[in-house]
Amino acid sequence: MERLRAEYPQATCALVHESPLQLLVATILSAQCTDERVNMVTPVLFARYPTAVDLAEARLEDLEEVIRSTGFFRMKALAIREMSQDVVARFGGQVPRRMEDLVSLRGVGRKTANVVLGVAFGVPGLPVDTHVTRLSGLLRLTSAKDPVEIERDICAMVPAEEWTDLSLRLIMHGRRVCVARTPRCTQCVLGDICPSADLGPVRPGARTGGRHATARTARPRSPSGS
Ligand code: SF4
Repeated sequence: MERLRAEYPQATCALVHESPLQLLVATILSAQCTDERVNMVTPVLFARYPTAVDLAEARLEDLEEVIRSTGFFRMKALAIREMSQDVVARFGGQVPRRMEDLVSLRGVGRKTANVVLGVAFGVPGLPVDTHVTRLSGLLRLTSAKDPVEIERDICAMVPAEEWTDLSLRLIMHGRRVCVARTPRCTQCVLGDICPSADLGPVRPGARTGGRHATARTARPRSPSGS
């Protein structure tokens, strides 16, 4: 954690937002889509639908058109409208700040709820996305594969006030250094303590979806482990 903090002093969420509702919507849109693409779409979306009531009453076809470029736009438009309808009907148009309330909203899972809790409300939460899942396995922080179990294991060994920032930093590290298939171990601040370091590059043509270590060419480690 100390090394990642030094490497990424600003633990930030890349999704541009100005309110919990905007972050909730942006997080729903970010499924199977880059944050950059989401950030291109949300200014138009939020200008046209500034409140939960506006989103709850939106015509589905109009919503779909605005968010089309983020992919899976029909499913996402429905999820955004249904979530907004729940926020309006059950929480007076305000995004709730408790995990049990957030996950009771249609279309909102635990990862999304943790993002909103940690980033928008400052309530400890550890979102487990694809990067956190991959890095927690490579670093042997947990042997769990299920996001809920990964969250439970990491939260048990890290102070609550660090949960959100650790998740954000793991995501940043997973995007910049420990990238899928070709982790840049020689440039990694965790290289000397990571059990998965220096296993070698991903073999050309290695199957995607395989386990990280088996897709790489093993290389003997030096006595120092570097
Ligand atoms: S040493 Fe390599 S495998 Fe381990 S966290 Fe760093 S980049 Fe990822």
